Amino acid sequence: MHLAAVGQRPVECPVMTKTLIKNIGEFFTGDLAAPEALVSSLLISDGLISELDPPVGTSCDRELDANGLAVLPGLVDGHVHPVLGEWTPVQDTIGWIGSYLHGGTTTMVSAGELHTPGLDYDNLTPDLVTALAEVNCLTTGNERWSGVKLHAGCVLLVPGMTEAHFDRIAEVGSILAKFIFFPLEENCDEAKKYTEWCRARGMRTKVHTGGVSRSGSSQICGFKTLSWLQPDIAAHVAGGPIPMGDDDLDRVIDETDFFLEVCSSGNYRSTIRAVSRIQKLGHLHRLTIGTDTPGGTGIIPRGMLRNILLLSSVCELTPAETIAIASGNTARAHGLDVGVLRVGAVADLIIAGPVKGSAGSTLEDAIAHGDLPGISFILVDGEVVVDTRSEQTPPPSKVAYF
Ligand SMILES: [Zn+2]
Repeated sequence: MHLAAVGQRPVECPVMTKTLIKNIGEFFTGDLAAPEALVSSLLISDGLISELDPPVGTSCDRELDANGLAVLPGLVDGHVHPVLGEWTPVQDTIGWIGSYLHGGTTTMVSAGELHTPGLDYDNLTPDLVTALAEVNCLTTGNERWSGVKLHAGCVLLVPGMTEAHFDRIAEVGSILAKFIFFPLEENCDEAKKYTEWCRARGMRTKVHTGGVSRSGSSQICGFKTLSWLQPDIAAHVAGGPIPMGDDDLDRVIDETDFFLEVCSSGNYRSTIRAVSRIQKLGHLHRLTIGTDTPGGTGIIPRGMLRNILLLSSVCELTPAETIAIASGNTARAHGLDVGVLRVGAVADLIIAGPVKGSAGSTLEDAIAHGDLPGISFILVDGEVVVDTRSEQTPPPSKVAYF
């Protein structure tokens, strides 16, 4: 076993050079343009997918028999709120990242370390938010907790920042800046300047939308603000937890072209409305998913899988499309090179199938029925981080094996 228990970091093991995964029953690419493919085996070399369906007899160091199960990309949770390593003070829990890994999440993007104890939202200064992002990038973001790729250090933008602040944040590797406490309507020009400064440094911007968050200090944001701000990603457009009004939501979908995020923290009715409208417009490429946890919504280890089930069984997207949105699309929205399974891509993947008793005979069929799939193996950079069965899902009706 490579992972002793949920919450513990994987035991260091020597990198295997070549791993062959064979007897793949279903293959999901993570690419919305072609989300499924007929692939029955793949070769991983030095953490990357080096071949799909390599010739019989291709040499390798180990063979992982998928036993007819599905292979899909590791899921990308585009909206998490870490604080310090695997500890979250909002639910006073340790080990949450390892639990999420066992729910299929292999990459996470911080939407701000705003639960840091003692942080006074009403007295944030440019130096404080910059320092907080730096510390988070260089501490929590500097480790692979339980094997998960966590992009921490999302800066909580406030008025009065200079380009030098953005230099500091970019230098430590932050990928995202967040408008949540920033009074946007009172500081339009400054906000637009921040967006430019982020883009010039390869960083994306995300904005809190809808009503006031658990913090009590976030700014209300709907179509009017989003239309001039033009962020890279509008966070939780269906609520996190309170959504913007229906008219605003429809206009954001119809009249803008940036990424639209839906989260587990949202309003179910607005989520169904938003996703159905995005689909009918043919704009699924703009849809990105996250849990917006840990937070008041709780800790949801299977949250990304549950998002996939909601979108596939209630919002009428196909399971393959939804898997692609929860992996490749969400990675692309945040500028990350994960979430797709193709030659040359990083080998972050899940081997999973239907659970015994499920209405579904395959993973795709189970998801279409809204049934949670069972995870057998998870690999990150070609290394096993979940071995034989997940500690957070029921086991699939059969498991993969070496
Ligand atoms: Zn959030």
